[in-house]
Amino acid sequence: MVYVVGHKNPDTDSVCSAIVFAYLLNKWKKKHGLIKLDEDAVPAIQGEPNPETKHVLEKFNTGMPEIMTNADGKKIILVDHSEKSQAPRNIDKAEIIAIIDHHKIGDITTPNPILFVNLPVGSTGTILKLLFDWTNVEILKEFAGLMLSSILSDTVIFKSATTTETDIKLAKELAKIAGIDNIQNFGIEIKSKLSNISSLSAKEIIARDFKEFDMSGSKLGIGQIEIVDLELVKDRIDELINELKEMKEERNYNGIYFMITDIMKEGTLLLVVADDENIVKKAFGKKLENNRVWLDGVMSRKKQVVPPLENAYASNF
Ligand code: MG
Ligand code: MG
Ligand code: MG
Repeated sequence: MVYVVGHKNPDTDSVCSAIVFAYLLNKWKKKHGLIKLDEDAVPAIQGEPNPETKHVLEKFNTGMPEIMTNADGKKIILVDHSEKSQAPRNIDKAEIIAIIDHHKIGDITTPNPILFVNLPVGSTGTILKLLFDWTNVEILKEFAGLMLSSILSDTVIFKSATTTETDIKLAKELAKIAGIDNIQNFGIEIKSKLSNISSLSAKEIIARDFKEFDMSGSKLGIGQIEIVDLELVKDRIDELINELKEMKEERNYNGIYFMITDIMKEGTLLLVVADDENIVKKAFGKKLENNRVWLDGVMSRKKQVVPPLENAYASNF
């Protein structure tokens, strides 16, 4: 068995891409031979999917992947990440068979050549659509739905700075196959599932989409929620900041960042607890006030938050 698995704190792209790539690979390896595999590919997730992802899997009726958190001795395919910190534990003791991703190249290395496809597009789902086209494997309706969901989720309905022409073009093709008439409405339908956070604790809100980074020796955590209206969390900002302070202590971070991204206003309220608050001014050109700053037009962690922070921490070092 070969496990196809996305990153920790699974999002829609990482879960859907695991399901879709496992399917594609099982078809593809019989036709081609780019990957020599006797085993079947099986999709896996590293934890409970979020409500948006659950909605997508139910809508297209593709089933829930099994949970897999220990890579020790297993054959593994990584989708939607290539960083050890986001992979299942003991990834160093696994055999990496392939990586399909759209982030910066991480720190995973392999002793042999592998199938490694990384494109700077809006989602891993976009790359999978290209792989279907390349390999001539037929796209079933439900898998088209999953890839479309990946694209709309990761690009925040084409509003994120990560969106490319390719994402939009392929999303239209996938919508046709999936029988989705109005892409915009479908995007809002899935994105709105993440906006209802009233039943979640501050810790749960922050942990849902949270990634750790090492920047010039500084240990950081950066979380994000995407909501349809900032008003929905207005009453809970202080509570979130207090939770960030606690997490920073507990985990020994040099800085912890939490992006509250307003999909409609197209910007992010960034909450920050950091050893050096001047970092924020350096990175984004705006000063923190009361641990918060509004960043107009900022929607993407990997394109608009991680790179400026990396530069700021590097120049600080
Ligand atoms: Mg992802
Ligand atoms: Mg992704
Ligand atoms: Mg994301």
